[in-house]
Amino acid sequence: MSIIAAENLCVRYRQSLALENISFAIEPGDYVGIVGPNGSGKTTLIKTMLGLLELESGSIEIMGKPVAGFRQWQEIGYLPQATTIANKAFPASVAEVVSTGLLGTKSFPRSLSGRDWQQVAAILELLDIGQLYGEQIGNLSGGQSQRVLLARAMVATPAILILDEPTAALDPETREQFYTMISRLNREQGTTILLITHDSGTIGQYASKMLYLDHSLIFYGNFADFCHSQAMSRYFGDSSQHLMCHQH
Ligand code: ADP
Repeated sequence: MSIIAAENLCVRYRQSLALENISFAIEPGDYVGIVGPNGSGKTTLIKTMLGLLELESGSIEIMGKPVAGFRQWQEIGYLPQATTIANKAFPASVAEVVSTGLLGTKSFPRSLSGRDWQQVAAILELLDIGQLYGEQIGNLSGGQSQRVLLARAMVATPAILILDEPTAALDPETREQFYTMISRLNREQGTTILLITHDSGTIGQYASKMLYLDHSLIFYGNFADFCHSQAMSRYFGDSSQHLMCHQH
């Protein structure tokens, strides 16, 4: 069974159709790079998966169930665009920030157990930041903050992780480390990854598939097929297309 399946999906904001007749199927363990020009509907697609927007027509299912309201939030970890934690003086430790990622799994009263705190420690270890457990969030570097927010998105062990331009604010070396970490989660934990990126030149090094949106779905497939796609030659030109596929 596909983990995410869209059929003839259309989403409208008043006058304009943002997503037009989109159909695709993402399999468990896929790592999909979502690419497209500004305003092409990438964020709209993610919001639709999160159940935040109504469909005009068509369907979208997560693990075989139609997306509706907040129901699928247990299955999806979401990391928004890289922003530095706004208030440096906010009095919270790394463990406390990460633990808020477990609250969605609790029914009232939302208190955390000893096992939950162990789970927080385990995800920090997995992301190689175990030593930051008791650190105040105001003391972290940009790369460390982004890993803490990744830990918060992953602590409830969602099957799907959605990242929106996660490395935009990071320097090249930290960005590389972050991509390596995401690849590890994909390979070792089997997490299905959807990553929105402007970095269309490098995503082929990491992702197993590309989904190219321009309101409608222009291309969806693996990078070997991307390399031979005439639709993609029209967008990128033959030579860039071959550099982007990273296959040969
Ligand atoms: P991307 O993430 O690829 O930059 P978006 O999904 O944000 O694209 O936007 C797709 C289209 O929908 C754009 O034309 C944008 O102007 C429009 N749009 C996005 N959000 C809204 C909104 N809240 N109200 C009206 N139009 C919107």
